[in-house]
Amino acid sequence: MPLITRFAPSPTGYLHLGHAFSALTAWRRARVGGGRFLLRLEDIDATRCRPEFAEAILEDLAWLGLDWDGDVRVQSAHLAEYRAVLDNLSARGLLYPCFCTRAEIARSVAAPHGPDGPIYPGICRDLSPAGRAARIAAGTPFALRLDMARARAAIRAPLAFDEEGEGPVHCTPEMFGDVVLGRKDTPVSYHLCVTHDDALQGVTLVTRGIDLKPATHVHRLLQALMGWPAPRYAHHPLLTDEHGRRLAKRDLAATLRDLRARGVTAEEVRARATPLAGPPRCAN
Ligand code: GLU
Repeated sequence: MPLITRFAPSPTGYLHLGHAFSALTAWRRARVGGGRFLLRLEDIDATRCRPEFAEAILEDLAWLGLDWDGDVRVQSAHLAEYRAVLDNLSARGLLYPCFCTRAEIARSVAAPHGPDGPIYPGICRDLSPAGRAARIAAGTPFALRLDMARARAAIRAPLAFDEEGEGPVHCTPEMFGDVVLGRKDTPVSYHLCVTHDDALQGVTLVTRGIDLKPATHVHRLLQALMGWPAPRYAHHPLLTDEHGRRLAKRDLAATLRDLRARGVTAEEVRARATPLAGPPRCAN
């Protein structure tokens, strides 16, 4: 089976060295193995994504010398597909509307924290159908949360994802609690869109930063619930300096555009965006 991998940035700003590293990691994997490299713009969050950043991503990647196979998938053009997944899960009783504001949740939680912050204490999980209907009818905004206990019960078998170089990783998505899959301002969540699209696009190897590894526990659960295939995962370390330390803010903040304007060449960025290479050299 040919390898299919992808780079899936969110156009919330200009690409920086960390992005270049991630994109190059995926691109090199595809290109050395005769596989396919896909580009996807994860622009569902209309409050943070901007078209000019999307355009800049394509331009910066081309400047870096990366090419991609097929059309760029732009998530905001596919809302109906994600909505259909929400409807499917909802019809199976796996979602519930949550009317809590962030402030209410923060106040009510002396609660344990998960990888993404406080775990939702379940305030709206047991609202009566009439209570829910009344609030919806009154126009109270709500998010759609996955009922984690029900979702786990729907999948009896233990779940694992296959991490390259590590083997099967036992999944514990409950560490996130009842995750939000849809929201008032962002119609569908990252977890849902990313998993849907990797399945739809036939991605066989997900390459992305290690900071997203915990989220994979939720993604594997969604794959099992929706009957989607499970790709392999290769979570790469975050870009470090020559001493193996995480990049300084100053280096991380430097966008590819800044570097380019300062006379750094694409070859130099490519060399820098490789584990354990030296810092980028600047003309001034
Ligand atoms: N869109 C996500 C981000 O920019 C990455 C998604 C992924 O690679 O799975 O952080």
